[in-house]
Amino acid sequence: MMVLTKKMIEIRSILQVVGQSNALVLPSIVVIGSQSSGKSSVLEAIVGHEFLPKGSNMITRRPIELTLVNTPEAQAEYGEFPALGLGKITDFASIQKTLTDLNLAVPAEDCVSDDPIQLSIYSPNVPDLSLIDLPGYIQVSGMDQPLELKQKIADLCDKYIQPPNVILAISAADVDLANSTALRASRRVDPRGERTIGVVTKMDLVDPERGASILNDRKYPLRLGYVGVVSRVPPATGGLFSRGSGNITNAITKNENAFFSSHPLEFGSDSGLAVGTNTLRKKLMHVLEQTMAASLQGTSDAIHQELEEATYEFKVQYNDRPLSAESYLAESLDAFKHSFKEFAESFGRAQVRELLKEELDQRVLDLLAQRYWNKPITDLSPPPIEPDPLSDLPKADADSLYWHRKLDASTSSLTKLGIGRLATTVVANALQSEVDRLINSSSFANHPFARQAIIDASSGILNERFYSTSDQVENCVKPYKYEIEVEDNEWAKGRQSIVTVLNKELKACEAAEKQVESAIGGKRKLKDVIGFIDRLRKGDVVLEGDGSGGAGGFSAALLAKGREAVFLRDRASTLQMRLLALKSRQCATRTNKYYCPEIFLDVVADKLTSTAVLFLNVELLSEFYYNFPRELDAKLGRGLRPEEVERFAREDKRIARHLDVVRRKEMLELVLAKMESLRDLEGREKRREADR
Ligand code: GDP
Repeated sequence: MMVLTKKMIEIRSILQVVGQSNALVLPSIVVIGSQSSGKSSVLEAIVGHEFLPKGSNMITRRPIELTLVNTPEAQAEYGEFPALGLGKITDFASIQKTLTDLNLAVPAEDCVSDDPIQLSIYSPNVPDLSLIDLPGYIQVSGMDQPLELKQKIADLCDKYIQPPNVILAISAADVDLANSTALRASRRVDPRGERTIGVVTKMDLVDPERGASILNDRKYPLRLGYVGVVSRVPPATGGLFSRGSGNITNAITKNENAFFSSHPLEFGSDSGLAVGTNTLRKKLMHVLEQTMAASLQGTSDAIHQELEEATYEFKVQYNDRPLSAESYLAESLDAFKHSFKEFAESFGRAQVRELLKEELDQRVLDLLAQRYWNKPITDLSPPPIEPDPLSDLPKADADSLYWHRKLDASTSSLTKLGIGRLATTVVANALQSEVDRLINSSSFANHPFARQAIIDASSGILNERFYSTSDQVENCVKPYKYEIEVEDNEWAKGRQSIVTVLNKELKACEAAEKQVESAIGGKRKLKDVIGFIDRLRKGDVVLEGDGSGGAGGFSAALLAKGREAVFLRDRASTLQMRLLALKSRQCATRTNKYYCPEIFLDVVADKLTSTAVLFLNVELLSEFYYNFPRELDAKLGRGLRPEEVERFAREDKRIARHLDVVRRKEMLELVLAKMESLRDLEGREKRREADR
C-alpha cells in the first residue's frame, strides 16, 4: 500500500517542473506550532538529522517544502535543493547553513515570505513523506519581533492549513493544551478535528500521570489522535555520540524508549496511548497515504483538465508542430549553413577580383590627385603625333626626366603600399560582414549566444589565416616592385578601364556639387559664393581677420560650403580634361606612358590585383569555405551540452513559449499515465481487501 505515497511524491516533483497550477496541489503534511514548542526537534527526529536553522534570534522566515524519499537500496543520505541546482549535499550541516542563508535573505522589513524553499532528503532511514515546515507562531511580540510579524506568520500558516493538507499541530506538554496556538489555529479550519494530528512534545518535562491525561484529552478530540514524544537530542555521552554529524535517530529513540518504558503503567501497550517518534512516523505515513488515495480522483481530474488546455493551446497556437531545443538548433544550423553555401557559390575569384580592383582604383585616384592633379597639369601632354583636335594643349618635352621620375615614384607608391595586408583585410572584412548579414537574416538573429559563437568561428579562422595569406600575397607581388612590363593589349585594356573609373569619379563629383548647391540654396547663390571665393583666390579681395565671422556678405559656413564647391568644380574640370587626353591618340600607345600615368597605374593595379587574387583564393577563401561550416558544427552542433542547447533555444522568447507548451503537454501526459496505473493499483488493492 505504501507505494502510493512514493508514486504521488514522484508525480508531485514532475508537476513542480511543469509549474504546477493550484488545481494540481497534492496533499502534504503541514507542520505548525508556536516558537519553542519543539517543532524543529520533531522534524529532525523524523529525518534523523539536525538540519534546520537554529539560534535564539533565528526564526524560519520561509516555508520549507520538505520531501522525504525513502531509498531502501542506497547507503548514502543526502539532501537536494531542486530549485538551486547545488547537486547532492551529503553534509547536513551544510544543508543547515544553506537554509539559514535562504532565510536570512528575506529582507527584515518583509518579515516572512510565502515563497517556499524546496528541499528533498534521500535516505534509507526516512519514510516517503511530504512535509511543509512553517514559521513558528509568536506568543509575545517583543522588541525585535514586531506585532506585524505575528500577524504575518498567522496569515502565512492559514494559507497552508487548508484542505486537502493534513495538519500536524505541535504543542508542548508543559503548556496547557487550551493555550496551544497550533491547536487553536487548526480548530478554525478543521473544526471537527478530521485532518489534524496532535503531537505533544517534551513529555519528559511533566509527570507521567499528567502526560497521560494530556494524550487522553477529551476537550479537543482528534480523529487522527495525539502522539506523545520526547524528541530532544540527548546531551552527548562519553564521545559516543557527537552532535551535528551522523544519524541521531538511535540516540533519540534510545532516550525516548528509556523514558516511556520506565512508566509502563501510564504509557505501556495496555494504556492504549500512542507514544514515540517511531509511532508518529508510522502514523504520518499511514495518514498521508490515505489522504493521497482520497485525492487521487480529484487530482486525476485536474490533470486531465490541464492536459486538455495544454493540448488546445498546442493546436491553436502552434499548429501541433512538434519542437525540441535540439531540433530547433539543428534546423537553425542547417538553414544557416545552407545560406552560407549559397553565398560561397556566388562569391568566388571574380568577385574578389572586382572588390580588390575597386579598392586599388581608389588608391590610384588618390595617388593621381596627390602627385599629378594638384598642380597645373597643362604640361602633362606629349608632343602631338599628328595634327590633332587637341593640339592646342601645351606640349611637354618627350624625354623630360621630371615626368619619368614622377611616374616611377607613383608606381613605386602603388606597389609598395602593402598590398598583402590591404588585400587580405578587404577580403576578410567582406567575409565577416557577409557572415553578419547572414546571421541577421537567419533565426540566429534573436540568439546572442549563437551570434557570438558564429562570429567567433568566422573571426577565428580569418585571424588564423591572416598573416600567412598577407605574407604570401606580399611575396608574390615583389617582382613588380622592381620592374613592370606592359604589353600592348594590357595597355588597351587599362586605357578602357581607367576611362570608366574617371567617368565614374566625374559623375560622383558632379553629384556632390549638386548636393552642395541645394545645401547652399540654389544655383544663383552658389554662383555668388563661388565668384567671391575666386576673387579671393586671385587676390582681388582680401579677407579681413581669419574669416571666421564670414566675409563679403557670406557667413563662415556658407564660405566653407563654397570652398567645397570650388574644389569639386576644379576636380571635375581636371577629370574632364584628363578624360579628353586619355581618349586622344596620344594615349593610345604605351610609348607615351609618361604622359598618360592614369593608364599606366591602372595596368599596375590590375597586375597587382590578379596576382593577389590567385593567393587570396587559395589561402583565404577556400580555407574559409572549408573550415567555417565545420567550425559551426563544433561550436553549435555536437559541441554543445544539453543544458547549453536548452539555454540557446530559450533565448528566443517565442521558441521558449513553444517549448514550454510542448514540455508541459508531455509532462502532463506522463503524469496522467502514472496516475492511471496508480488507480489501477488502488482498485486491485481494494478488491483484494474485499475478498479477504
Ligand atoms: P521550535 O522553536 O518549536 O522549533 O523548538 P525546538 O525544537 O528548537 O525546541 C525548543 C527547545 O526545547 C530546545 O531547547 C529543545 O532542546 C527543547 N526540546 C525539544 N523537544 C524536547 C523534548 O522532548 N524534551 C525536552 N526536555 N526538551 C525538548
